[in-house]
Amino acid sequence: PDDQFTPDPTKKTLVILGTGWGSVSLLKKLDTANYNVVVISPRNYFLFTPLLPSCTTGNIEHRSIMEPVRQILRHKKAAVKFYEAEATKIDYERKVVKISDNSDIKGTINETEVPYDMLVVGVGAENATFGIPGVREHSCFLKEIRDAQAIRTKIMDCVETAAFKDQDSSEIDRLLHMVVVGGGPTGVEFAGELRDFFDEDIKKLIPEISPRFKVTLIEALPTVLPMFSKQLIDYTESTFKEEHIEIKTKTMVKKVTDKTVEAVVTNPDGSKSTITIPYGLLVWATGNAVRPLIKDLMSQIPAQKDSRRGLAVNEYLVVQGARDIWAVGDCAVAGYAPTAQVAAQEGNFLARLFNNMAKTEALETRINELSSNLNLKPGNVTEITGEIEGLEKQLRHIKDIKPFNYSHQGSLAYIGSEKAVADIAWLNGNVASGGKLTYLFWRSAYLSMCFSSKSTRLFITYDYINKLLARNRVLVALDWVKAKLYGRDVSRE
Ligand code: FAD
Ligand code: NAD
Repeated sequence: PDDQFTPDPTKKTLVILGTGWGSVSLLKKLDTANYNVVVISPRNYFLFTPLLPSCTTGNIEHRSIMEPVRQILRHKKAAVKFYEAEATKIDYERKVVKISDNSDIKGTINETEVPYDMLVVGVGAENATFGIPGVREHSCFLKEIRDAQAIRTKIMDCVETAAFKDQDSSEIDRLLHMVVVGGGPTGVEFAGELRDFFDEDIKKLIPEISPRFKVTLIEALPTVLPMFSKQLIDYTESTFKEEHIEIKTKTMVKKVTDKTVEAVVTNPDGSKSTITIPYGLLVWATGNAVRPLIKDLMSQIPAQKDSRRGLAVNEYLVVQGARDIWAVGDCAVAGYAPTAQVAAQEGNFLARLFNNMAKTEALETRINELSSNLNLKPGNVTEITGEIEGLEKQLRHIKDIKPFNYSHQGSLAYIGSEKAVADIAWLNGNVASGGKLTYLFWRSAYLSMCFSSKSTRLFITYDYINKLLARNRVLVALDWVKAKLYGRDVSRE
């Protein structure tokens, strides 16, 4: 087969699965000259997920938050091979990954195997549906670019259908009812963006339907945003009230049909009742589930049998019970929340670890060479022993790698009406803030990075924002200006 990538037989082959937060952070910091690096992912781009909710309404165009992987790899010291494919099985015994090209265009070969010496699994998670009937068939998720595009199209489809001549009155109410299931940050941010879209654009363009537009957020727990402090939960709930976003807490969705959601509500007296809610658009944001690839790998490793939420890893991110496999991000269980912040720090940690491992091996080889020279060149004993001692000192220093230690920078979420909530880690404490100023902080966190100055870093605790390429920061800034000046583009694709 014609493959320009000729692996160097003196180096180990490091295979990295995925091009998300964990894998791309690893790639950016990895010294690729030390390994034969192969990256496998069905997505040939990195996706800046924190701004994905803004793509659903066209406040930001989707390409502004996509970074082509090949652009990232171009800047690496040594060539990296990229295969756009899905890993379908990790054969742990044989140390190979089976891969499959699932794109529309097929070549003569669509499935093959890639051997590895070292493997990093960073495939993320899939959408949780808890097996609830109808969810997969009828709702939209919000995880990938195509999800945001589908939502954007569907919102406008609902609006235009509601505005259709002589449309039935109850049908107008149904079509203009946007229901979001899941009161985590994804659901909350999406509900906020949706309301903004209506208030800022749809109201002006199609005023006759605007009073009937409604957003409902359904959450099974007693509050939304459980990871935020009480004060910010209250702030979010009162802001949503002002924005006319109805929050239904203690409401667990049990069934979805093409036009309705059925949910069980726990009433204040503890009794339960079932409600049926008609909807036009349904967005399902109830968190993460384990991917089949990961479940399969877990079933091959006895030490993983008690792990439920993903690959259990040790403090060096090594998959428990496996040799030469590491895991990062949402598919790994390291005791932290499944966030971009965690995944990025894990990726950075692995890059340091692998860079150090390569240095260690080089030093050990040199020490062995020098030791064998001791017998061959007795006249140079003092000189050689001195060099060996120096190298051993370096080796001890390098080998002393501290385990992974997550440093929480804070949580930040946009809640609509130019308001945001932030729990920021500050001087060993936590600062809770909510409102327009926090929103300016949220926005400047992205915007100011367009000019990437050192001073902005002082204010921006979200160090992962730094990960956006300069090109993308400019695109995001332009999109915001464009939407402000001319309104969002409401053409339905
Ligand atoms: P991902 O970033 O999901 O990447 C997984 C990669 O693996 C992808 O490239 C995928 O194509 C690839 N892949 C999938 N299957 C396979 C396979 N079989 N073989 C090979 N490759 C595969 N977190 C925050 O900290 N702050 C935020 O503001 C924030 N906002 C968010 C907003 C939204 C709408 C969403 C959905 C999430 C948000 N998150 C946020 C969470 C954050 O995006 C995730 O925690 C993060 O993406 C996890 O990184 P990861 O590398 O594990 O997985
Ligand atoms: P989540 O797991 O944080 O929240 C899902 C919510 O859905 C839960 O509160 C759960 O109680 C609810 N739920 C589950 N089943 C339900 C049902 N049948 N009916 C009603 N409600 C139901 O999910 P998410 O918001 O997608 O976030 C996933 C991860 O990504 C989290 O770790 C989150 O912190 C991170 N994230 C962070 C940000 C941010 O920091 N701005 C934004 C988005 C996502």
